Amino acid sequence: MIAETRKIRLIMELRQGGVTDADVLSALERVPRERFVPDIFQDRAYDNAPLPIGEGQTISQPLIVGLMTQALELNKRHKVLEIGTGSGYQTAILARLCRRVYTIERIRPLYDGAMAVLQALNVRNVTGKVGDGSKGWPEQAPFDRIIVTAAAPVYPDVLADQLAEDGILVVPVDRDDDGQDLLKIRRTAGGFKEETMLPVRFVPLISGRTD
Ligand code: SAH
Repeated sequence: MIAETRKIRLIMELRQGGVTDADVLSALERVPRERFVPDIFQDRAYDNAPLPIGEGQTISQPLIVGLMTQALELNKRHKVLEIGTGSGYQTAILARLCRRVYTIERIRPLYDGAMAVLQALNVRNVTGKVGDGSKGWPEQAPFDRIIVTAAAPVYPDVLADQLAEDGILVVPVDRDDDGQDLLKIRRTAGGFKEETMLPVRFVPLISGRTD
């Protein structure tokens, strides 16, 4: 099947899976996922599946990227923090929908690879760094939106505190059993409101010194 047909099929799957926001669907349609996927998986770039990107990490499943992006309720004025740049695919989707993305990745080779692809695609509104994203990016806070693409071991207070008022944080958090839940946390005038979206499976968010 040719790439364009695969892509159309994938977009239909994402709609059926609950990604209904037209801007989010259009971003998913326009960002070339094959550019963020290693050569050996090119034929699977438009499968609705996570794929290995090296260093024991994965590019997230398109449906999860769609649902997380939609949950952020983005607009062109938003300043967004992304933790876990990985391949840079989610970064590119966010960059189409907000004003600026600040992104943090702890593994240098992944960071360098992601930045090279983003530059080649002429994505200009991204500022990134190598570091431990579990601490957020205090110098750049507050953020209108925060997205974490690795699973936090505990409720991420540090990140929630870097949200602007009315800000939204979307983050996978470990449950007491083996699973993880995707949480949507909204900062209100009085505190935080939390909603459990769905069970997910992400690689762990690793805190501490970077490699
Ligand atoms: N959004 C990425 C997902 C990559 S997987 C994509 O679709 O390609 C999660 C990423 O989080 C990995 O690249 C991993 O190295 C990174 N990561 C894990 N712990 C981190 C931390 N404390 N700070 C920053 N990045 C981290």
